[in-house]
Amino acid sequence: MDLRELRASLVGAVITPADDAYDNSRGGFNALVDRLPAVIARCAGAADVAVAFDFARVHELEVAVRGGGHNVAGHCVCDDGIVIDLSSMRGVDVDWRARLAHAQGGATWGDFDAATQEHGLVAPGGVVVSTGVAGLTLGGGIGHLTAQHGLSCDNLVGVELVTPAGTLVSASEDENAALLWALRGGGGNFGVATRLDFRLHPLDRVVGGLLLYRGGGVRDVLRRFRDVVGASPRELSCQVVLGVDEALEPLLTVLPCYTGGDSDPPELRALRSRPGLVEDAVREHSFLDQQHVVDSAYGENRHYWKGHFVRELPDELLDQLLDRIAALGRPPGNVLIESLHGRPKDVDASAGAAGFREAGFNVNALAIWQDSELDEQQIRWSRETADAVAPWSYSGGAYVNYMQADEPIERIRAAFGADTFDRLQALKRQYDPHNVLRRNQNVPPT
Ligand SMILES: Cc1cc2nc3c(=O)[nH]c(=O)nc-3n(C[C@H](O)[C@H](O)[C@H](O)COP(=O)(O)OP(=O)(O)OC[C@H]3O[C@@H](n4cnc5c(N)ncnc54)[C@H](O)[C@@H]3O)c2cc1C
Repeated sequence: MDLRELRASLVGAVITPADDAYDNSRGGFNALVDRLPAVIARCAGAADVAVAFDFARVHELEVAVRGGGHNVAGHCVCDDGIVIDLSSMRGVDVDWRARLAHAQGGATWGDFDAATQEHGLVAPGGVVVSTGVAGLTLGGGIGHLTAQHGLSCDNLVGVELVTPAGTLVSASEDENAALLWALRGGGGNFGVATRLDFRLHPLDRVVGGLLLYRGGGVRDVLRRFRDVVGASPRELSCQVVLGVDEALEPLLTVLPCYTGGDSDPPELRALRSRPGLVEDAVREHSFLDQQHVVDSAYGENRHYWKGHFVRELPDELLDQLLDRIAALGRPPGNVLIESLHGRPKDVDASAGAAGFREAGFNVNALAIWQDSELDEQQIRWSRETADAVAPWSYSGGAYVNYMQADEPIERIRAAFGADTFDRLQALKRQYDPHNVLRRNQNVPPT
């Protein structure tokens, strides 16, 4: 099959370096990653994905898969290979009677929330609407509704997948259940998901938004945040972002999302009442408004992220994080702390491959900058900050969804735990024995 035949076989578009659309089609979220694929196959459905795999096999091309294009490792694009690009496959169908949503493999959380909220329903997703539903869910999924409804992958009940051999496979609790288990956290290792089915929950309004603290009070608010979520409220998800302003004063953004019946819940009062509060933008609003509280420029900044799951946040670790954010010395990089309290702990751990639900928090140093001359300094800051967190690490592994491409396999194995990793490898041998899908947080077949 040559390029002309590929064009003729695909319902979707084929984009090469000769096409005007090429440059706008090859970029991703992280401006640090700049790659030049030979072909972009913008698929229109599962049959196109099978044809693209065929083409890759015939021409021995490396394969990258693009969902929402958000992965900081830049896994959605490769040099000289083929990109299986699902960015035209963004449909989301909602069966409100059955409380199920069926999302195509390139849908974003913005697409998903718009469709499900039409019916007053939700599934727990990511906090930035341009992030891909597939990439995020296949790696776990932490967001504004984690305490209430668990990880995104806990709500994944079915997947339609095209394997690198071009076979269409369904996975659900009744059919290929082991594959569904692997897809609940094991990443894009087994095939290209062309449809993902989610269990939905009723939700309309939330009490959410953000609280911004500046200066010396940040130390106390960090402790207060830890203590509030440590009581494991099931109706309150909460994350914090620790940064610095231009004057190098510490800044803390607290991102609560409360879904209970109280209009002034005590947990939020405990957070709101602390000294140093410079902005209180917490209010009752729609879930769609909540999903726009956090935004992040796409393709504009250079990013390098590194972190650990930790069991707890002792004072000593919080003080280390304050020292590390002072060492960063400039905005807009930050330390993101996501709490895993509540529902993730209630879910049967054997139902999916995600290996971190028993951890207390996900702590990540997000270096963010624009000037390439700062590359070395910013990357060093992120790595050294992760090293400072390492003594409290839950498993030595990190969140696969936030990993850069330079993490050693030991970190990926540790992210899952040895037994889960072995089981994932056995399934990899079954569904992708030649490791065609290796541009990801890779589980090699052997
Ligand atoms: C600004 C920003 C905000 C984020 N917020 C959150 C958050 O709130 N919660 C959270 O948990 N994570 C979050 N993430 C991390 C995010 O979950 C991962 O980066 C995830 O990989 C993004 O998926 P994507 O489809 O957008 O990415 P892509 O770069 O398109 O894909 C990444 C990888 O996912 C796999 N993949 C994607 N689509 C498919 C598919 N259809 N079938 C098979 N494999 C596929 C492939 O292995 C691919 O290489 C965020 C990332 C960014 C940059």
